Amino acid sequence: MPATPSLNLPTRVLMGPGPSGAHPRVLRAMTAPMLGHLDPDFLRLMDECRVMLRKVLRTENEHTLATPGTGTSGMEAAVMNLVEPGDGVVVGICGYFGERIAEMAERAGGEVTRVQFPWGSPVDPDELERAVKAARNVKVVGVVHAETSTGVETPIPPIAKVAHDAGALLIVDCVTSLGGVPVEADSWGADVVYSGTQKCLSAPPGAAPVTASNAAWEKIRAREVPCNSFYLDLQLLEAYWDERRAYHHTAPISMVYALHQALALVLEEGLEARWARHERNGRALQDGLEGLGLTLHADAAHRLPVLTTVRIPEGIDDAEVRGKLLHRHGVEIGGGLGELRGKTWRIGLMGESSTPGNVFLALSALARILREQGFPADMRAGLEAATARLDQP
Ligand SMILES: *Cc1c(COP(=O)(O)O)cnc(C)c1O
Repeated sequence: MPATPSLNLPTRVLMGPGPSGAHPRVLRAMTAPMLGHLDPDFLRLMDECRVMLRKVLRTENEHTLATPGTGTSGMEAAVMNLVEPGDGVVVGICGYFGERIAEMAERAGGEVTRVQFPWGSPVDPDELERAVKAARNVKVVGVVHAETSTGVETPIPPIAKVAHDAGALLIVDCVTSLGGVPVEADSWGADVVYSGTQKCLSAPPGAAPVTASNAAWEKIRAREVPCNSFYLDLQLLEAYWDERRAYHHTAPISMVYALHQALALVLEEGLEARWARHERNGRALQDGLEGLGLTLHADAAHRLPVLTTVRIPEGIDDAEVRGKLLHRHGVEIGGGLGELRGKTWRIGLMGESSTPGNVFLALSALARILREQGFPADMRAGLEAATARLDQP
C-alpha cells in the first residue's frame, strides 16, 4: 500500500447489466451535508421520495418505500414478508433471478414449485397456470419482469390473472425494468413490486424501491409468525417511513439523497419519453449487432431494449474481448450468467448509459476487437444498421 492511499479511479462507460452510469446531479447529491435520520429536512426528502416512487411505479399504493440495500434487499423484503411457512409458492423461472426468488421463498419456509422455461424465452402464463392448479395451497406467485440474465421481458398482466384466479398474490421483480421500460404496478395488478437503484434509475447501488398493494399488506399484517428478517420487515420499515417515524435502522442518508435526485430526473424527463429513449437506443444496438454479423440470444418478440444478450461466436475468447473493451476502450459489458456463462455477452443500455453515442462506441469497439480475433465483423453494416434505426421517427 502506498504511503498515501489514493482514490485514483478510471472513468468507465458502464454498459453491463448494472451499475449503469450515474447522472452528475445524483453524484453531487451524495456529497450534500449529512443530516440525522429524524431531521425534519431529511424526513421531507423521504416523503418526497414516496410521492415520486408512486409516480415512477405507477401505483397508488400507500405502502411504498425504499429498503436499505441493493435490489436483492427489495427481493428479500418482498419474499420474506409475503411468504409464510407452509405457503404454496409458484415461481416462473426463465433465468438466474427467477431462481433466486425460488431460493428465498424456500428459506422463508414456502412449499416452492419451480416452473422452468428456456433461458431466452419469457414465462408462459398457460404453463404457469397448469402448475398453479396442480400445486397445493398456493398463496404467492413470483416472476421476474425483466430477466437481466437473458435479456427477456415477460408480460405481466396474464401472469397476474393466473395468480389472482387462484387466490394468490403476485410478486414482480422490476429491478432492471423500472425507469427503462413500462412498469405499471396498479394496472398490471401486481401485489408487490420491487426494484433497485443502479439499473435504469441510474443511481449508485444501495436502495430498493418496494411497493405493496392493500391485499399484500393485509396478508403481511395477518402473519402468524413474524417475518424472518428483522432488517427487512416491511411493517417495521413502514413505521419509520410513515408519520410514526419509529426508529428501526439508521437510514442510508446519502443514498436517500441519491434516490431522491434520480427519481426527480426520471420525472423531469418524463416516463414515456424515457421509455422511448431506451427503446430507440436498445433497438439500434440490437440492429447494429446483427449488422456486425452477430446473433442475438433472446426470443425476438420478447427482447428487452435495456439489456441485450448476444451469442459469443465460435472460437472467440470471452474474457479477452471483455478485457480489451475495458482496458482499451473503457467500456464495461457483462459476461453470461448461470447457464449462459461463456456463451453470451450482456450489453446494457440503462438510464444515463442509454445514449446513441454509447451504441456506436460499443459497436465499433466490439467490431475492432472481434476482427483482431479472426471474426469478420462488418463494422460498416453494423454502424449503418444502428444509424438507420436511430433515424426512424
Ligand atoms: C440486478 C438484479 C437483481 C439484484 O439486484 P442487486 O442490486 O444486484 O442486489 C435482482 N433481479 C434482477 C432482475 C436484477 O437485474
